[in-house]
Amino acid sequence: MNTKIIAVTGGKGGTGKTLIAVNFAVMFKNLNKKVLLIDCDVDNPNTYLLLGGKLENPKEVPFFLPEFNNDKCTKCGLCSKNCIAHAILQVKDQYPIPMLTLCSGCKLCYKICPDNAIEPSSKVIGWTYETRIRNLDLWVGELKVGEARSAAIIEKLIENMERELETNPNKYDVIILDTAPGAHCDVEKSLSKADYVICVTEPTPFGAFDLRRIMKLINLLGKTTKTIINRSSLLGNKEVFMENLSEDGISVLGDIPLDKDIVNSYAKGVPIMDNDANFDTNGKGYLAFLENFKNLRQWINFHGET
Ligand code: SF4
Ligand code: SF4
Repeated sequence: MNTKIIAVTGGKGGTGKTLIAVNFAVMFKNLNKKVLLIDCDVDNPNTYLLLGGKLENPKEVPFFLPEFNNDKCTKCGLCSKNCIAHAILQVKDQYPIPMLTLCSGCKLCYKICPDNAIEPSSKVIGWTYETRIRNLDLWVGELKVGEARSAAIIEKLIENMERELETNPNKYDVIILDTAPGAHCDVEKSLSKADYVICVTEPTPFGAFDLRRIMKLINLLGKTTKTIINRSSLLGNKEVFMENLSEDGISVLGDIPLDKDIVNSYAKGVPIMDNDANFDTNGKGYLAFLENFKNLRQWINFHGET
């Protein structure tokens, strides 16, 4: 399989990882590469807004829930004893009481109940969408408002990606995963499938703190990674910030300064690097993206025309 899988992540929200994921996807597309962008930030999926598109082809994501039938239950206690999520409360000789907010949907209780007293049920916890915008494929996961099981939506997106790669190995040259922010299990699910990880940070104490947290996760996963400093001109401390990263052994891919065209691209829903967009090709933001993209292609050994 020759598809390169690149995750774009950030230790905290608002660093600009979606901006970078979308524009790198667009730049690969500009080279006539077959690109799939997957928005795994299911709590706040907004890649499609930056691409100026809309969400299409929704598919419900169901989540398994056990339904207990006391008419059949013999109060044996097997289900509560074996539920590692502690989602079944049971006092001796009483019927089990499910606490479904803790349920991970593992189905174990349903499989092991000796009296068929647990029946399968499910509820919709969100959706996946598959659409095509600006000549690239976009898959998006969205968690239903009020739901907490974001990991199940990300698992669905990853499962779909793996199935596609297996059945259609030449369909994509590049897959870009826009992960959730933070350093938790949702992020781990996306990072674990990536060949390369780009961390986006900003030159502030908060940015540095969160970058170090996500680096710990990336190192635990044994992934190769480089960092992009977004809004690098924010505090006039770019050089010092980069020096600190270098002292900590954090490799930098490049930086992107504050730029009015980038702000306008957000406002218009037009990626600054899209060939069809009319941004200043000599602007600071545009040139910085070109430089970062050149460095990215060198890093991942991706050969395409410039
Ligand atoms: S395993 Fe089945 S029979 Fe036993 S307590 Fe649980 S629901 Fe009841
Ligand atoms: S499905 Fe799994 S997590 Fe949920 S109640 Fe049953 S055993 Fe516990």
